[in-house]
This record gives sequence, C-alpha cells and structure tokens, in this order.
Amino acid sequence: MYPKISFEDASAWAEGILSQMTLDEKCDYVGGEDIFYTKAIERLGIKRVMMSDATAGIHLRDRFHEFTYQNPIEKSTAFPCPLQLSATWNPELSQEFAKSVAEQALAAGIGVLLGPGFNIYRHSQCGRNFEYFGEDPFLTSRMIERYIKGAQDTGVVATIKHFVANNTDYFRRKSNSVVDERALNEIYLPAFKAGVEAGVLAAMTSYNLVNGEWAGQSEQVIKGLLRGHLGFKWLVMTDWWSVFDGAKVAKSGQDLEMPACLATVGLADKVRSGEVDEADVNRMVKSILTTLKAMDLFDLEPRQDLVANFPRHEAVALQTAREGTVLLKNDRGILPLVGEQEILLIGDFITNKAHGGGSARVDGYDTVQLLDALKAEFGDRVVYEKAPTWERIAAAERLILSVGTMDSEGWDRPFELGEGDERFARKVMSLNPNVVVLVQSGSGIRMTDWNERAAAIVYCWYNGQNGHTAVAEILSGKTNPSGKLPMTIEREFADSVDPDYVPQGEHLYSSWNDQWEAAREVYDIEYEEGVFVGYRWYDSKGIEPLYPFGHGLSYTKFEYSNLQVSKQSLAEDEEVEVSVTVRNAGEVAGSEIVQLYVRDVESSLPRPIKELKGFRKLQLAPGESQSVTFALRKADFSFWSPEAEGWVAEAGGFELLLGASSRDLRLSARVALVG
Ligand code: BGC
Repeated sequence: MYPKISFEDASAWAEGILSQMTLDEKCDYVGGEDIFYTKAIERLGIKRVMMSDATAGIHLRDRFHEFTYQNPIEKSTAFPCPLQLSATWNPELSQEFAKSVAEQALAAGIGVLLGPGFNIYRHSQCGRNFEYFGEDPFLTSRMIERYIKGAQDTGVVATIKHFVANNTDYFRRKSNSVVDERALNEIYLPAFKAGVEAGVLAAMTSYNLVNGEWAGQSEQVIKGLLRGHLGFKWLVMTDWWSVFDGAKVAKSGQDLEMPACLATVGLADKVRSGEVDEADVNRMVKSILTTLKAMDLFDLEPRQDLVANFPRHEAVALQTAREGTVLLKNDRGILPLVGEQEILLIGDFITNKAHGGGSARVDGYDTVQLLDALKAEFGDRVVYEKAPTWERIAAAERLILSVGTMDSEGWDRPFELGEGDERFARKVMSLNPNVVVLVQSGSGIRMTDWNERAAAIVYCWYNGQNGHTAVAEILSGKTNPSGKLPMTIEREFADSVDPDYVPQGEHLYSSWNDQWEAAREVYDIEYEEGVFVGYRWYDSKGIEPLYPFGHGLSYTKFEYSNLQVSKQSLAEDEEVEVSVTVRNAGEVAGSEIVQLYVRDVESSLPRPIKELKGFRKLQLAPGESQSVTFALRKADFSFWSPEAEGWVAEAGGFELLLGASSRDLRLSARVALVG
C-alpha cells in the first residue's frame, strides 16, 4: 500500500526539517543535481534520491553530459513500448508491467520513476507516441490507474507526465498549445485525473507552452489545473531544462526544477529583494520533502534480491507483446503460416531491432532479433536474404516483409515511410500476392499504397527485447492475436487532425537541435478540433480511416448476441447495466476485446458520434460463450460544459453501441436519461 507514511504525517515531518533550513539551503533544494537526483541536505542528514526514466523499462545510463553513473544493476529489461501495452487493452497487465519495471528500479536503488507518460495521440507524427497510450482518454485512464497501482505498490514513486497538451515534439519548447477548457477536460485531462485518483505521488510538467505560458512555470496549469482542478497535492517537477523564469516557477505551484537550479538560480536574492515570496519557496521544499518521505525514499538502498525477479519481468514483457501485437488484415487466411513452404524474409529491422529513442530508450539484453525468433519457430523454412532479386521475390511462395521506423523524443517523424522503403514495399507487393508485412514502429505509418495488396499486416510496434518471440508465435499460430489498435491509422496524414501544425515553410527535422530551438520564436498550435480527436475526428468528419481505433483481428471469429439493458430510462444517481454475450464461433481459442461506446442522440453542444465508455477482454475456448456486463452512470453520458463550468448530462436519448472495434459495432440499444 502507498503512501507508506500519510500525507499529514510526512508534511509534519517536512515542516520540522524546513524550520531548520536557511533561506539559501531552501533555495538550493528546489533544483536537482547530477541530472537525475534530488539534492542531499547533509547538515540535516537528508540523502539524495535517484530518479530514472522508466517508459519501456529502466533507462540505465553510464553517462549523461559530464556525469558518469555507476549502475548498481548490470542490466534492465527492455519492455514493449507503452503504446503496445495499450494495444493489449488489459489493465491487469498494465499493473503487472508497472510492477515489473518498478521492481527493477528498486533493484537499482531508484526511488522515483519518471513515468508513465501518456500524452494523447493527437496526430501520428508525434515522435513520442510510442511512449504514450494512444488517442482515447477512457482507455488511457483505465491503463494508467492500474499502472500507478502496480508501480507504487512496490514502494517507488511514479510520475505522471507530461502535464499538459504536449502532443508534438516539433520544437517542443517553442510550441504553444492553444487549447480550450472543454478539450482539456474531455480529452487531455482525464488520464491525469485517473492517475491522481489512483494516488500517484509525482507529476512532471511538459516542455510546451499552454495558452501562452510554459507549462512548468504556469500558474494556470499547475495551481489552476493540476493542483486546483485535479486536486493533486504531491510533488510536481519540471521536465528537464524546460523553465526560464525563476520567479514565475516559484509562484506557479511548481516544486522542483530538473535537472538543476537553472531558472531558479539566484532565487534567494529574489526572495531578499521581495520579487519572490519566501512562502512559495517553503511550499516547494516542503512538497519535495513530504513526497519523498511519504514513500520513505531517503534511505533507499538497492534491493539486489529483486534481481531474482528478472525472469518474471521478462515473462511480463513477452506477455505484453503477445497480447499487444495487432493483426490488421489477413486475406485468404494466409496466417498462420502453416505448411511446409519456404518463407523468404526481406526488408529492414531483421537483425537489428527498431526501437524508440531519447529518454525512453532501453537497451535490454539477450535481445531476440526477428531472424532469431523466426528461425526458432519455423526452423529452416525461413530464409533471410538481404538483397534478393525481383525474380526471387516474385517467385517466393511465402514472403515476410519487415518495415519500420525509429521514432524518438526530440522530433516528429513523417507519417510516410522513407521514399526508398515505400517504393520497395510497393514493388514487392506488386510482384507477389502472398506478402505478410510486419510493421515495427512507434506510431501509425502510411500504408495506403500497398495495404490492398498485402496479404496480411501485423503491427508489431517496438516490442521489447523478447517481443519478436511473440510475433513468431503469432505467425505460426501458436499464439492467437488479440491486440487492438489504441489509435486510428489514417489513409493520408491530410485526413487527420491539424495536418498543418508545422508552421508554413518549415519542415520536419530528425536530430537534436537545442540551440536552433532556443533561437526560434514560439509558434502556436491551435487545437481547433476541440474534443474531436482520434476516432471522434474521423467520425465527425465522415472520413474513412485505413484502420479504425479498436480494430484488430483474431484467428477465430466472435459472435455478439443477447444485448440487454437493465432499464430503459435512467434517473440521476442511477446506474444502468448493459450486458452482451460473446461466443467464439471458430475453431481455436482466442481473446476478444468487447468495446462499449455511448452516443448522445441529441445535445445542445456538438458531441462526438460515439465515445468509448467500457471494454472487457474475454478469453474463449472454441464454441464457448461468456456474457459481460458494464455499468454506466450519469457521468458516462456527460460532456464538459464551458457555460456551466462543469460536467453536464442532458436529458434525452442515448445509444449504447457494442462491438469489436469503433467501426465494427454489432449491437445497439437505447436508454433515456431523465432530468
Ligand atoms: C523528457 C522526460 C524525461 C526527462 C529525463 C526529458 O527529455 O521529456 O520525459 O523524463 O528528459 O530524462
């Protein structure tokens, strides 16, 4: 259970420490040191606490800038990226995943995990989509609340990030997200709210400006939204090198500047001159001390005994890849690849894995390359050729083409594959009708010109050090795929929300460019689409995506029947139960993710055509049926009303839609909300 010490007791302790500190000591304490530590206060016996990035596992670092670290553990497991975790639609697995990552942190003596991150997938080019949980606030919230529990139950502090509206990495410190209150409440805040309600002990602000001020020094963002509106009372830290005005930082509700006192350098003089209120500095110091004390982190020692749990963590990583790999299409039942035919393997990322870059990078160990995994599963049936002739490609009876991208923090990545890769893919598929495409990427990619011709497409994401074993199992049929997309994949980037977010005349880049960024002007990103993000956008615009949110195939078929609603009309404070029976009508066992969407038939404000309000994963043997029940309350029918400055559920009819994806809705029923 967490926290280990209550907020009140930890605050009282912090107050005692604070009263013994000089102004200079206090002002010094509000910045980190050596990039990943809070400071020690040796005079008072307070030790420093180590933090680590933990997106897809612990990012062990040997060096960062001029600092050399000595890692108390030799290795850390490379887990699948969080977007793949989200594709499992399995909150229990999210909890296990987080617990595993957190145990590795404890093994290394790390007290604060710099994750989970879950900025909403507003468009497919964001370089950090792989680190996050996709486009839907409901799915993200359900995964995040369990993530927090999994991590913090072990005794580490988790950090929800990046607060808020940080949806591009294109000159991320210079993008000003102009976003309205309704979009914040319905789209960008819910998962943060879920994290706060799950008891998370730390939050990190984002690089971008929000409505005109950098998030990390914005009173509106920190005092207003995070602390006031969401009720968060623990540690808030800046993202690394992301604030510029110490006086504003102190006033904003921010606690800790990372990685050091940079904007907050000279804070004591500002207090002395009256520019900064000492009470703000006291509050900052107290908040840092309170949080670290509440998890008893000051005396944390590396827990070497937890290294013994690594095999269990590796199993969780593999299970995530098994459940999170998404089968997008499978014509003529080409998969699984049964039979004896030779399988020709071509393309990229066959002996070198695609993975995410930046702070989320984890190298892992004993990495299973695609070729190794396929050889282990199919033996000599698999033949890898680096440069096969077109004749060879045309003649292959079975062909696996691996394509992918290496996405990273720091920049955005074009939706389209590189020109050469795209041309190659098109040519391969024009020559051979039996191509199975494996996509290793951290976000959606453009598949429009070869999608029709591909016999099968498997979305493998960045699946961690052993994830290709899961891919091989899926290709052979040993594992039945069950992952579903946590985002929409559009046909053209122009179809998506705000395709012109890059200022006119500018282009995407793909390298670290801090100096260039520092020199440029702030640019605005107008969130004009409001709440219409992801499938809400495609639905409302009547745009057909290539693959819709929630889509993913199985080797079996599921039938939906017997939709029942416990009441036709629902009064304030009542609950309606919706149940449906799902049957595995195929020959093999499989898992189905049942999705429940709600549609407001008539409303005073434009609302999305449908919104996800429930999901459940069912495991079914061939012929087996199970029914699932969802409970809906008034809140599930509400929208954020700027006029009322709150959630409003309007009386009237609502449709309840049940199905296998946001565009494969099998059954519907109606309920009425009575005012
Ligand atoms: C990232 C954060 C990360 C921090 C520390 C920043 O570049 O935006 O997500 O936690 O670095 O590595």
